Amino acid sequence: MTTERAASALPFDPTDPVALTQALVRCPSVTPQEGGALALLSAVLSAEGYEVHRPVFSEPGMPDVENLYARIGTEAPVFVIAGHTDVVPVGDEAAWTREPFAGEIENGILYGRGACDMKGGVGAMVAAAIRYRRDNPDAPGSIAFLLTGDEEGPAVNGTVKLLEWAHRRGERFDHCILGEPTNPASMSDMIKIGRRGSLSGELTVNGIQGHVGYPHVADNPIRGMVRLLAALDAAPLDTGTEHFDGSNLEVTTLDVGNPATNVIPAQAKAVFNIRFNDVWTPDSLAAEIERRLREAAGNTVRYELKFRPTNSVAFLTEPGPFVAMVADAVEAETGKRPALSTTGGTSDARFIKSYCPVVEYGVVGKTMHQIDECVAVADLTALERITNRLLARYFAVQHRA
Ligand SMILES: [Zn+2]
Repeated sequence: MTTERAASALPFDPTDPVALTQALVRCPSVTPQEGGALALLSAVLSAEGYEVHRPVFSEPGMPDVENLYARIGTEAPVFVIAGHTDVVPVGDEAAWTREPFAGEIENGILYGRGACDMKGGVGAMVAAAIRYRRDNPDAPGSIAFLLTGDEEGPAVNGTVKLLEWAHRRGERFDHCILGEPTNPASMSDMIKIGRRGSLSGELTVNGIQGHVGYPHVADNPIRGMVRLLAALDAAPLDTGTEHFDGSNLEVTTLDVGNPATNVIPAQAKAVFNIRFNDVWTPDSLAAEIERRLREAAGNTVRYELKFRPTNSVAFLTEPGPFVAMVADAVEAETGKRPALSTTGGTSDARFIKSYCPVVEYGVVGKTMHQIDECVAVADLTALERITNRLLARYFAVQHRA
């Protein structure tokens, strides 16, 4: 084995979650750029004895994206740690008070794009897994890493294809933790056990353009649009379920593009987005929206409705022994039991859930996608300890079973 030699070639200790996160932040991996982040993790993990693969996925009209799959151990159960190393663009760089890719630490805070979303999660969990296997070289089961470079982008050449790729190779997963920054303010706040789905629609109402002074020869589409939008908004889509809030429809834009005060416009357009719970599938929800519009329109409003394609379904990992095990590990290290939540936007967990139960837990996400994104050093070390504890518990329970 060349393990020791390779490991010592690294300029930092890979069991140190802060040093590892800092090294990752220094890789400018704005989607779809790999930026050196996966190469770094590949070096770190192969030095520890992981079998590492770097599949690149393509799609016509989209940039190629690099991904990483790594596994140590040959036996079941397979505990998967998932995440992404790509980050959103810096935005207005002049507004940053630190270099976005320098990974500076000041007063216990590590700054940089991706620090919390989610190089901190990746760094802490990789460090934890390495420490766990070093301390338990004969540990039962396997640990696998599923890391993508396409989460913040179209999410087409990332986790979806990586999961299919692994499945084709015969990889089978038992449980997964996704290290997205789930905590609003402190490390004991929140585990995500599900996510709402997302569906967007475009509504166009057609009228007849004309002179405001001669309305009988025109047909104002705004009148029809107001009626249709009111129908969409009239009754709640549902009242929520055991683990989810009610589904929510928001009209996100409403456009006529008419600069004149004496012209009745020809067309009005609106776009809406629905965040929906596990009552709905995208199809059943689309049918409900169509029904409401049809009824409101009657024979008088001429409209077109188009749904944008979505790969975002609602999912739930039912609370049970695995969810409890994650919550136990958080409570043991922070002194407080985290809430089980399904709030927030979508994540790659919506793809992983088709392969194995998945929960999300990571650092505090307050500054994600913001100027001066940062993560507390103490949160990185806490996440490392929590993950290490979770792995120890998981494999101890599996070993006994
Ligand atoms: Zn993220």
